This record gives sequence, C-alpha cells and structure tokens, in this order.
Amino acid sequence: MRIDLHAHSTASDGTDTPAELVATAAAAGIDVLALTDHDTTAGWADAVDALPVGLRLIRGAEFSCIAPDCRDAHVSVHLLGYLFDPTSQVIIAEQARLRTERRMRLLAMAQRMAADGFPVDPDEFLAGLPPESPAGRPHLARALMSAGVVGSVDEAFRRFLHNRGPYYTGRVDTDVHAAIRMVRAAGGVAVLAHAAARRRGPVIDHSVIAELAAEGLAGVEVDHPDHADDDRAALRDLAGALGLLVTGSSDYHGTNKTVSLGQETTEPEALEQIEELAARSRVAAVTADRRRVR
Ligand code: AMP
Ligand code: FE
Ligand code: FE
Ligand code: ZN
Repeated sequence: MRIDLHAHSTASDGTDTPAELVATAAAAGIDVLALTDHDTTAGWADAVDALPVGLRLIRGAEFSCIAPDCRDAHVSVHLLGYLFDPTSQVIIAEQARLRTERRMRLLAMAQRMAADGFPVDPDEFLAGLPPESPAGRPHLARALMSAGVVGSVDEAFRRFLHNRGPYYTGRVDTDVHAAIRMVRAAGGVAVLAHAAARRRGPVIDHSVIAELAAEGLAGVEVDHPDHADDDRAALRDLAGALGLLVTGSSDYHGTNKTVSLGQETTEPEALEQIEELAARSRVAAVTADRRRVR
C-alpha cells in the first residue's frame, strides 16, 4: 500500500488539475491520495469525477494558520484537515476570507517589487491570478519566471520570496486552535503539517504541539521532504509521548516543487486511525448539532 496524504492541485498552488493529479497518482502506483489544497475544497468534485479505478481519494485541505510561540510571538503553521464536511459555514467563511487576504498580500508583494524596478505590473499580475482560488507565492514566482527575472520557482523563493526574503509580506492567517476546532466540529481530523520545515522560517515549539494535542489535534506529519532526519526522530518521539498518529507525505505541487508523489508515505494503520476518528468526529458533530436545534 502506498499512501500519500498531502498533495496540491491547480485549485491552489499546484500545477496539475485535480483530474491530472489523480491520474498522475494512479500512474505513480499510489493507492490512496489526499487532495489537500491550501484553504479550499474547490478541487474535490473534479478529483472525485476523474478518480481512476483502484485509487482511493481522501478529501482534505491545508489550513494556513498562526500558532502562539513560547517566545511570545507567532509562528506560521499549516494544519491538514481530513474528511471534514465542506458545507461547514464556519470553514467556508474562513476560507473565503483567506482567499481575499492571499490576493491582497500578493498584490502588496508585487507592488513592492515593481517599486524597486522589477518588470512586474502588479495590477496585471492580480488580474491574471486564477479567480476564486487561493493564490500563493508560487504564482508570483511564476510571474517572475515569465518576466525573465528568475529561471525557476525555486530561484524566486531563494532570492526574493522566502519568509525572511526582501519582499516577504505577512498575511493574517487563522489561529491554529480555532482551525482545529473548526475541523473537528465539521466532522474532520486535524494533522499538523511539516512541523519541522526549518528552511521556511521559525518552527512550532514541541510544547505548543502538546497544547494542540490537548485541543484535539490528532496527528503530526513526521515524514516530509523538508524534514531533517533528527527532526523526524524527535517528532516521532513526541507523537509517541502525546498519543498522536504519525503521517508521511510528499506535499506534491506539480512542477512548482521538485518532490514527486509518493516520495514520502503513510502507514496503513495511521490512515485507519484517521478514518476511525473521522467517523467518531462525525457522530459527535451531528449530536452537537441536534443539541443546538433543541
Ligand atoms: P504562500 O501560501 O503564499 O505563503 O506560499 C507558500 C507556498 O510556497 C507553499 O505551498 C510552499 O509549498 C511553497 N514554497 C515555500 N517555499 C518554497 C520554495 N523554496 N520553493 C518552492 N516553493 C516553495
Ligand atoms: Fe503550496
Ligand atoms: Fe504547507
Ligand atoms: Zn502543502
């Protein structure tokens, strides 16, 4: 069994359409794939419609969050939500807010680059972003590539767009505690994504992961292409101590990243736990709904 629980499509900042993504996964010998676009569930329907025989799809999303840091600051964290109800009004509203927030933030970055003489027209760039989709820095990286400023998305990140880069502009993301509650209330399961991806910037402290576990976090993504071996070992130990399940996934973004589907994988037992928790979470969500109605 090859299980990859973290992949992006053109519904956010991947380069494969949802239909292409499931076809690519099947061709790569993947048995179970989770579609986890940033802050949207818009790709789910197309992925389901195009699902090849033999491939199972886990519907998910990656929530852009901030977490309190023990040094009294905030760090950026990504939360994977699996199998939640996409009609949850709380999630729909928060994802819509974030889509606008993402566009305005990218516009600000493009404006700062234009002001410094880079050949990017901020308004044209904004107009060229896929409508209704959560745009991200990879879109700006591609615009810089088209303008001949850089030769690759990777180079754009390395020189200009990374979290401590000269044009980085922040964004108001979702509080991670609220995001965990949202996912659970919608019958889903929350797993912390790439918690030790250090090249992106400061990472979440283990003491904060312990707080999130108390809040209902179900698991941590231990095996991720951006994780060093010692960090994987430390996260695995932490997961054991806190009773969290462990996943491994590629975080595939098509040609926007150099990783391949199935590069990292999840054990079948962990997937079983996710599905069991989702089933229990759905029952709990329905019960809470009934109580509210009464
Ligand atoms: P944003 O959502 O605008 O903050 O952009 C973050 C996205 O850029 C994430 O999907 C990352 O996977 C991607 N990303 C971050 N660092 C790099 C990098 N060095 N090269 C390519 N993509 C990156
Ligand atoms: Fe991304
Ligand atoms: Fe992420
Ligand atoms: Zn991702």
